[in-house]
Amino acid sequence: MSTVRNIAQGVHSFTSNAFLVDGERTVLVDAGNDFNAVERIEAATGRLDAIVLTHTHPDHIGNVASIVNAFDVDVWGFDPDHELVDRALADGDRVEIGDSTFRALHTPGHKNDHLCLYSRSASALFAGDLVFANGGFGRTDLPEGDRSLLIESIDYLLSEVDESLSTMYVGHGPTVDTNPRHHIELALQAARF
Ligand SMILES: [Zn+2]
Repeated sequence: MSTVRNIAQGVHSFTSNAFLVDGERTVLVDAGNDFNAVERIEAATGRLDAIVLTHTHPDHIGNVASIVNAFDVDVWGFDPDHELVDRALADGDRVEIGDSTFRALHTPGHKNDHLCLYSRSASALFAGDLVFANGGFGRTDLPEGDRSLLIESIDYLLSEVDESLSTMYVGHGPTVDTNPRHHIELALQAARF
């Protein structure tokens, strides 16, 4: 798969991870917040073709306006009524990221417009704030948070993701590159507890 860089690496502010996926179509998965993303994209790839949002919490979208300003790209997300979203991605829709086709999985529970992005051929998953490494899962105490819906969404994710999944990129904390499916199973158990 294409090169994936977390351009929020080393940033100490209220930000999510922001994954710049280089390739045929250079895409930023989540924009992050409160750091100079434009400068980091310029330094890493010097180009950008689109932004895809896992969801629209402030720590994931704060940098969107400045990036759109600099690179004149469309923003893809679940909710076309959101002011920052230009292109809607419904459950099952496909979107090109890097050198691969990813499928959008509508996975509410943390937030209503939450998507995971999965590519079987690239064996990669962008999990947003649904699940994290070591059984972590998204908080459900914010508006639109719903624990039972979150559990359903993790279940749905597990039903879609192959045993062979090799890399899971998450909204916060480290990327999981050893048996990510197991980490999703741990999150399901933990969320059910
Ligand atoms: Zn969030």
